[in-house]
Amino acid sequence: MLPLPRPTLDARKVYETCISNARPARVRTALQQVADQVAAAAAAYTEAATKGELHTLAALQHQPEGKPSKKSDKDQPKTINDHLKATYTSRMVHEKSKGRVFYNILLAAAPDGRCTLCGQGLADTLDHQLPKDGYPLFAVAPDNLVPACRSCNTNKRDDVAVVAEEQTLHPYFDTDVNKYIWLVARVSAPFPPAVTFHAEPPSSMPLVLAARVRHHFSSLQLARTYGPQAAPELRTLNRSLKRLAPPAASQHLHELAEDWTVEQPNSWQAALYRALAASCWYAWEVSGGPDATARSAKADG
Ligand SMILES: [Zn+2]
Repeated sequence: MLPLPRPTLDARKVYETCISNARPARVRTALQQVADQVAAAAAAYTEAATKGELHTLAALQHQPEGKPSKKSDKDQPKTINDHLKATYTSRMVHEKSKGRVFYNILLAAAPDGRCTLCGQGLADTLDHQLPKDGYPLFAVAPDNLVPACRSCNTNKRDDVAVVAEEQTLHPYFDTDVNKYIWLVARVSAPFPPAVTFHAEPPSSMPLVLAARVRHHFSSLQLARTYGPQAAPELRTLNRSLKRLAPPAASQHLHELAEDWTVEQPNSWQAALYRALAASCWYAWEVSGGPDATARSAKADG
């Protein structure tokens, strides 16, 4: 997860701009009539998210209209909830919509253009942290919209946390999570090693946050996202380290681990290099063992 400063956009202003030219006029009027509710809900969202308690907003689900009837009737007129959900797609994402400027601002905040949920994919969409189908009041709330890749957006689906531990990490509010090292890689012999990634929060991490880290990692299927990245990285690394004697190879791995941990402590790269640097056999194997040491000594002499 890549932490990101909260957007400075005003939730009410964003909403009112998005709906300002909604058609027909009766839909616009209906949307204007719930502006107070949308603004109050956005304030409640910010307060809950600051405390890591978005799961406590269950009372705002399917508001303001209430949960739809299970009977589907195509002739049924659209409800205000339907119009609120459509506000995101038609009045914020649409290229020519009034709200597109806010969509662009939120998306452009992605660090290096990367997904804030996995830190790997390209951020080419906004993810609703609380899904708009369940929470139409938050359909265009800036705090609820984070830059994400399509894979994370799809994997996260419309799941709604019932308890605190089921909340995925929120890039705007869970900024403390990267004060801990919680992503680890395991490298297994024989050479070339197989690499797997795991969420293993340290015992010093608060229990609820640790549970959320594990939930974030599993629900977004980050092991599947990170695993394929490691193979080409290792092949390139193997070629580079072959030119070094084992002590120099080991030192290089430690430096890479340290530098990536400073850059992004819970990135797959940081986890991979920490695991390789801690491995007793990898540097020795990749750099050719005693032959490489002898080559190095001869070159020095
Ligand atoms: Zn992603």
